[in-house]
Amino acid sequence: PWIWECVQLEMKRRERYLEEHNITRFSQNTEANPFSSKIICGECNRAFARKGWRTPNGDRKVWQCSERYKVKGVLGCGNRHIYDETLIEIYLMAWNGLLECREMLVPEWERKMQGVNLLERFRAMDFMEITKDARPIKELDIDLMLRTVDYIKMFEEGMVVTVFLDGTGIEWKN
Ligand SMILES: [Zn+2]
Repeated sequence: PWIWECVQLEMKRRERYLEEHNITRFSQNTEANPFSSKIICGECNRAFARKGWRTPNGDRKVWQCSERYKVKGVLGCGNRHIYDETLIEIYLMAWNGLLECREMLVPEWERKMQGVNLLERFRAMDFMEITKDARPIKELDIDLMLRTVDYIKMFEEGMVVTVFLDGTGIEWKN
């Protein structure tokens, strides 16, 4: 019964997430675009969208705030763009960073495992398990990323914060 309760809480959490960032629905195609709806603008709180760009170095995938050109030709949100490869690097750094400070996080997870919030309890147990004896990763593991990342927030001045589903945030500065 407590897992059923967790699922209800998780569904509510996702609903709130969509509403907060003005997203219509989560992508079904996570294999092709795993970061879809997970990149959030630190300036206007809307989601980033991925586009293909033709550059002198070939076609590249780039992420931009979905509010950038809400009205055609008019610049909306002025936040910067980020390339897909950079995003993956930031994610890898954040996950490996979390693994590195696991010892510091364990007491917090243990506290949450005793708490009244069942979803927090579930996440804490999950993080405890996934990070146990885990080695740093060098490549994007989509299932692991989807299981652990809440969102990645991009700020104008070069700061990026990866927030994991246990509540841990890891900063990266350009
Ligand atoms: Zn924005």
